Amino acid sequence: MDSKELKNKLFLDERNGYFKIDEKAEKEIEVFANGYKTFLTASKTERLCNKNAIMLAKEKGFCEFVPDKQYKAGDKVFYNQRDKSVILSIIGKQPVEKGVRIVAAHIDSPRIDLKANPLYEAEELGYFKTHYYGGIRKYQWVAIPLCLYGVVYNENGEKKEISLGDKEGEPKFVITDLLPHLGAEQGKRPLNDGIKGEELNILIGSRPFNNDEESQAVKLNLMKIINEKYGFKEADFRTAELEFVPAFDACDIGFDRSLIGGYGHDDRVCAYPALMAALDTENPEYTVVTVLTDKEETGSDGNTGLRSNYLRNFVWDLAKMQGADGYRALRNSKCLSADVNAAFDPTFADVFEKRNASLINKGVVITKYTGARGKGGTSDASAEYMSFISQMLNKENVVWQTGELGKVDAGGGGTVAMFIANMDVETVDLGVPVLSMHSPFEVISKLDLFMAYKAFMAFNK
Ligand code: MN
Ligand code: MN
Repeated sequence: MDSKELKNKLFLDERNGYFKIDEKAEKEIEVFANGYKTFLTASKTERLCNKNAIMLAKEKGFCEFVPDKQYKAGDKVFYNQRDKSVILSIIGKQPVEKGVRIVAAHIDSPRIDLKANPLYEAEELGYFKTHYYGGIRKYQWVAIPLCLYGVVYNENGEKKEISLGDKEGEPKFVITDLLPHLGAEQGKRPLNDGIKGEELNILIGSRPFNNDEESQAVKLNLMKIINEKYGFKEADFRTAELEFVPAFDACDIGFDRSLIGGYGHDDRVCAYPALMAALDTENPEYTVVTVLTDKEETGSDGNTGLRSNYLRNFVWDLAKMQGADGYRALRNSKCLSADVNAAFDPTFADVFEKRNASLINKGVVITKYTGARGKGGTSDASAEYMSFISQMLNKENVVWQTGELGKVDAGGGGTVAMFIANMDVETVDLGVPVLSMHSPFEVISKLDLFMAYKAFMAFNK
């Protein structure tokens, strides 16, 4: 055997994913990417993701889960957790006690939320005060078009769903920034303070109500328009959930159209293929439990996040239905924590350790452990489980790679993996590499996206 043959036999195959797929797969990648772009543009908040996922699930025959009902193998149910998270489940041929297959992705993304008392006028301009949600680099969120989504209840408790600025022809919103001519002092701030939290004020109007002496005439005119359009008063902002997100559509990036740019790839680039895999799974061996969760970006706390008991309770309900103990079902369960990883960026190569970073077009990335420092704050998947996943992916020709989030001690981050692993479930992170993660316009590869779908399909069946 010459050295080339020996190398091919013994070394890791680090070729680009495009050298590992056939023409048929290339076509499938394009079709899948088109569906994803449509979903991403239409699902910019956790509530919209929840709603659209349930709508698609219903079309595929999923029915609302009834806890004490007897389900049989092949039955499809969804469980709506407070309109912000959703579980899709397909009952398996094996008893639930033998374990379920959990795919968990999150559907919340970093964004700009409104404060309880947001509306004000300054020098005859109208603004909203905000409080950002999740880890953002604040300077990236100024001088870009924003749109508004959310839910408001008026004084009588009537719900109004708000959506403004995302559809063609609708007015948009913006956070202003200084011009370079006057930005010299601001420019000396460290980048992370370039724009401060209290400077994320959203410009919402400028026209006074009329020319009388009444102060805050711009605010009055704005409140009048809001009241006419949505039927609520200033006091009702205090109980509302209003979120500003980027007002641009997902689109192809590059001359070769191999990439997709858009808001919220983290983590809808995993949530969408997880959802599609759940919708495309028929008669699985083990019960499939696909959870699209809220609150990952703020640490998974709260009753729609995965530190709460809602996923555990759902699995326990399934076990109870078959007269089994929930904890045994969990002990035998397996999970893919479907979340993104940072893609190696050659422009900022310093923060990565290239041999162990995930790369664009090298396929879906398995992250054995996340966390920071000495693997703090993570679940570290076992060799046994890693081997199981590796064999499963290879058998189905899924292009995959491993990844770590940056150099050791360069930073770190977490996912929902440890909260599921803490329930005594075998868990590992598997997801899609992302460039410009947490920015208003993140970038992913179509090939990697499709490989995530293939991975979840392999796991579900
Ligand atoms: Mn994420
Ligand atoms: Mn994130």
